[in-house]
Amino acid sequence: MNQKYDFAAIESKWRKIWAEGKADKASRDPARKKFYLLEMFPYPSGRIHMGHVRNYAIGDLLGRFYRMNGLNVLHPMGWDAFGLPAENAAIDRGTHPAKWTMQNIAAMREQIKALGVGYDWDREVATCHPGYYKWTQWFFIQFLRKGLAYRKKTYVNWCGRCHTVLANEQVVDGACWRCDTHVVQKEMYGWFLKITAYAEELLADLEKLAGNWPERVVTMQRNWIGKSVGARVKFAVEETGDVIEVFTTRPDTLFGATFICLAPEHRLTRELSAGTPQAAKVEEFLQLVARQDTLARTSEEAEKLGVFTGRHAVNPVNGERIPVWSANFILAEYGTGAIMSVPAHDARDFDFAKKFGLPVREVISQGDDGPPDAAYAGDGVMADSGEFTGQNNREAAPKITEYLQKHGAGEGAVVYRLRDWGISRQRYWGAPIPVI
Ligand SMILES: [Zn+2]
Repeated sequence: MNQKYDFAAIESKWRKIWAEGKADKASRDPARKKFYLLEMFPYPSGRIHMGHVRNYAIGDLLGRFYRMNGLNVLHPMGWDAFGLPAENAAIDRGTHPAKWTMQNIAAMREQIKALGVGYDWDREVATCHPGYYKWTQWFFIQFLRKGLAYRKKTYVNWCGRCHTVLANEQVVDGACWRCDTHVVQKEMYGWFLKITAYAEELLADLEKLAGNWPERVVTMQRNWIGKSVGARVKFAVEETGDVIEVFTTRPDTLFGATFICLAPEHRLTRELSAGTPQAAKVEEFLQLVARQDTLARTSEEAEKLGVFTGRHAVNPVNGERIPVWSANFILAEYGTGAIMSVPAHDARDFDFAKKFGLPVREVISQGDDGPPDAAYAGDGVMADSGEFTGQNNREAAPKITEYLQKHGAGEGAVVYRLRDWGISRQRYWGAPIPVI
């Protein structure tokens, strides 16, 4: 190897010969087996990076291997070409996202070609081409017809200065990443795909992955679906007659509920406080929470903020009148957007009760008599719980659910942490939703 390998001359010579002879064109010989080889399409951000090279080298090897073994190999390439970076680049540079995207595709195509990866370039696609996204739209219409695509009001991160919705990753410390304006939660219409219709099926089929997938991945999937079994309980508001529905996994602690907490975005938070001496304080609280990032305000370390709405709800099992509060750690889109707070048996409720001087009542005894100095979430004997007093809490839970059902005050329920998939995050540079 004394001679220098002139890669520029040698490789470009051969790439030209391969391209002219369509060496990588998918063959259609019915006598041969077919092999469809597809790698993840790159996002056309501007330049190919080493991660792409590593990935596409594997595909190239596999394609060549099967082609040399006499198979019909279909190995196409395309571009995952819709997305937020194109919008941001367009704003930054005063250009159109299409122009920026097509320029990047042209540059990256040349880079991939320079690698000599064997693609059938006659079959190249880009997800932003009308000829491609008409199929994305076709899929959407099938979902719509099956009732699996729907539109509803939802809370989005909103920058009042940019007049735009922001993705969670564009919110930095509660402010817009572009202009530093405080981000507010704004209610807007959005399109959703109803993945929750498949929650139970997804969960059940995780069993089939046992032994084949790493256990921690399966666990992550299970937690993402987050199935909870419990009860829905109706609390009537004493002064107005409105009904607050809560979901709880612990109907056995119902007698220990000493207050209700509504999400700040809950329909009733502002409504209930109207006309009470608390109205101004509630308004002030809502403004404060609107400036908080939803992820940050629900984290365990976040400061728990709350306000009394000025109204009371009636506990359906003991007729007790308990105050209705609103708290920053409750989100409108989880469960029913309202909880019954049982400070004696839930750590978060306990912290909240201590901070705001709300009563703590133990209804599951762990055997000692002193006043609780921390929440006890374990099992024990029911106390202070009407006809259920003295029973084991696990045995009493379904009986309390039954009692609620008999009295029209609730029912057994299953909820999932899994949310329907919001698909309208891209305001402009995304597949147009084919509905007017
Ligand atoms: Zn902004």
